[in-house]
Amino acid sequence: MSTTQRSCPIVIAHRGASGYLPEHTLAAKAMAHAMDADYIEQDVVLSRDGIPVVLHDVYLESTTDVAQRFPGRAQADGRFYAMDFLLEELRQLKVHERSSQHGEGSERAVYPGRFPLAPALFGIPTLAEEIDLIAGLDRSRGRTTGLYVELKGPNLHMARGMDIATIVLSVLAEKGYADRPQQVYLQCFDGPTLKRLRHEIKTPLPLIQLIGENSWGEDSDSDYDYMRSPAGLAEIASYAHGIGPWLAQIYMGRSPAGEVLLSELVNRAHALGLAVHPYTFRSDELPAGVEDFNELLDIFFKRAGVDGVFTDFPDTVRHYLRRENII
Ligand code: CA
Repeated sequence: MSTTQRSCPIVIAHRGASGYLPEHTLAAKAMAHAMDADYIEQDVVLSRDGIPVVLHDVYLESTTDVAQRFPGRAQADGRFYAMDFLLEELRQLKVHERSSQHGEGSERAVYPGRFPLAPALFGIPTLAEEIDLIAGLDRSRGRTTGLYVELKGPNLHMARGMDIATIVLSVLAEKGYADRPQQVYLQCFDGPTLKRLRHEIKTPLPLIQLIGENSWGEDSDSDYDYMRSPAGLAEIASYAHGIGPWLAQIYMGRSPAGEVLLSELVNRAHALGLAVHPYTFRSDELPAGVEDFNELLDIFFKRAGVDGVFTDFPDTVRHYLRRENII
């Protein structure tokens, strides 16, 4: 699957330019486009009526006013699932910066230095609307920007009788993107979903196997420890173009003497022809032992040799790559 591997590393705008505007809003996507991101990411979930919308969580409460607007619509676990709401209901919600609950009624921004929690200026876009925005900007700005689509919760959706993989592919086909392997990646944490896309659905689009930690409780039985082993990576190479690991699976911190410690993951993946696109690069959330964002980028681009990064700050990564003559 190494036919589309690039020699220049790519900048993937993680949920748009989400360091500056609330994630997965059209505003954040327009800003990412203006920052010349190579790819703009879409996390996709389905509404109750089966329409793909762009939203990171299968839940709504961390980035919208769903609890105020539709009280009583939470499931028994206290969470508001997007797939319980019709698209026309999702359209009534206002999107804000990601927040978390701290005690009764007290909401706090996850990244306090970013766009303010209020006012809520934005809505949830459908996948089709977001593709129209990116294609329109490509035309008016004379660029070609890639889509980097993640299928969220494929098993949760399937339990509701909704096949998110084929539904998303039909929207991509409608918009003329289903046969543009140079311009679209499909990503998923669930190995079986990607295998289906490759072997049964036979999409020509390159697939990226996301790798998390088994402790995260992703909607998948996939064993991420196995995926990082030589045997696991060889299996991934049979259906995927590359991997999307968490950055802590590559940069392991520092030795007592202060040396950067790197795992074998990038070398192992490259030996199999797999591209490596780690997540998530945030200048306001640096890993232990890293002083500034530049140093983090040095470690990943110059030492580890990754093929691209998911970042909330696409402008900063773009400037870095230009300045260092990496692109
Ligand atoms: Ca994602």
